[in-house]
Amino acid sequence: MKTIGLIGGMSWESTVVYYQLLNRGARERLGDLHSAKLLLWSFDFADIEAMQAKGDWDGATSAMIDAARALERGGADCVIICTNTMHKMADAVQQSVDIPLLHIADATAMAIKASGAEKPLLLATRYTMEQDFYRGHLRDRHGVETMVPDEVGRTLVHDIIYNELCQGIIRKDSKKAYLETIQRAQQQGTDGVIFGCTEVGLLIAQADFALPAFDTTALHAGAALDFALND
Ligand code: GLU
Repeated sequence: MKTIGLIGGMSWESTVVYYQLLNRGARERLGDLHSAKLLLWSFDFADIEAMQAKGDWDGATSAMIDAARALERGGADCVIICTNTMHKMADAVQQSVDIPLLHIADATAMAIKASGAEKPLLLATRYTMEQDFYRGHLRDRHGVETMVPDEVGRTLVHDIIYNELCQGIIRKDSKKAYLETIQRAQQQGTDGVIFGCTEVGLLIAQADFALPAFDTTALHAGAALDFALND
């Protein structure tokens, strides 16, 4: 089994989910007492959020590169960035290490294509929904087009991520607001829902709506296990 290096803590509320999925997945695939071989670098998310809010993407890139190099030195065979947003600097991180970076949008695109969905709705941070690094990656490398909520919807989705989900706060009203956002998008022709922030699965689940859900946390963890166990 290979060792998976995780760049986490963004937020730790979703890194916990990665940790469970990777270990449970290893047990399901290998049985008995098997668990995943992991190395975790966990940031203080307040530091990262401050850089994001200031637009200090150079500082954030340096932080991700330092973490990836530390994981590589520690013996990781691959690296995963446990947040969609910080894939903004995925190419720079990949160039700074010799081990592969398993990109969250690659795992997500495979599932979208397998489902036949053609215009899934992306629920994510404002950075992921509004900048091109994520939607562009899906479009240019995989031919997957995405929809995003309107400005009011994007603000709502973004604020709930930072003010609630990343702080472990799960509110019924917020779940209702997310489901209404999905309903509106469905009326505009969306045919799937990308949980494009690793905390979204803490609030809503496939069981809450009929459209196919693409949970990036689960898909990314699954791709990491494929790498660790099969390659
Ligand atoms: N975990 C979130 C994501 O997947 C948001 C936190 C962050 O900005 O990294 O984008």
